[in-house]
Amino acid sequence: MTAFGTNQTAARLHDLIVQTEIPLRLIPEQQSGISCVWCLNPLYDGPETVALDEASRGLRGCARCYTARVETLETYYAWLNHCSACPYCRDGGACTVSFGYRALHQDAARVIGRPPPLCSGCFAEVQADEVLIPKLREGSSATHLSYFHARCPRRRR
Ligand SMILES: [Zn+2]
Ligand SMILES: [Zn+2]
Ligand SMILES: [Zn+2]
Repeated sequence: MTAFGTNQTAARLHDLIVQTEIPLRLIPEQQSGISCVWCLNPLYDGPETVALDEASRGLRGCARCYTARVETLETYYAWLNHCSACPYCRDGGACTVSFGYRALHQDAARVIGRPPPLCSGCFAEVQADEVLIPKLREGSSATHLSYFHARCPRRRR
């Protein structure tokens, strides 16, 4: 149902949302698809309701919450694609294009209540003037969208 990118991309983003974005604790109304898994608002059949994990559990979300998560993932991947192709970013430089992608991503992440990014190398909160790069980490059951200092001291100061 999304208007984002190719079907393949939309399907991949949808799978990622189902794998990583559904809260672990759900009330019965959310478990049965009556309420949005994110905002708890009641759901009605139609384009404003998005099926999640339909095959196994019947979880559903509202289009507003779902779209905000798609935007968070899309802006992350746009930023990631830039940084993996840009020689300046690969060298740990303070790239203005990367800062632009990062700002878009952080704006989208703020809408869904994400805390400011932590560096996965040193676990420190990343300051706005520090160079940050997105990096995927493969976990046991899902891919984690992670962030690292471009030049990480690797330990807490
Ligand atoms: Zn919702
Ligand atoms: Zn760059
Ligand atoms: Zn770090």
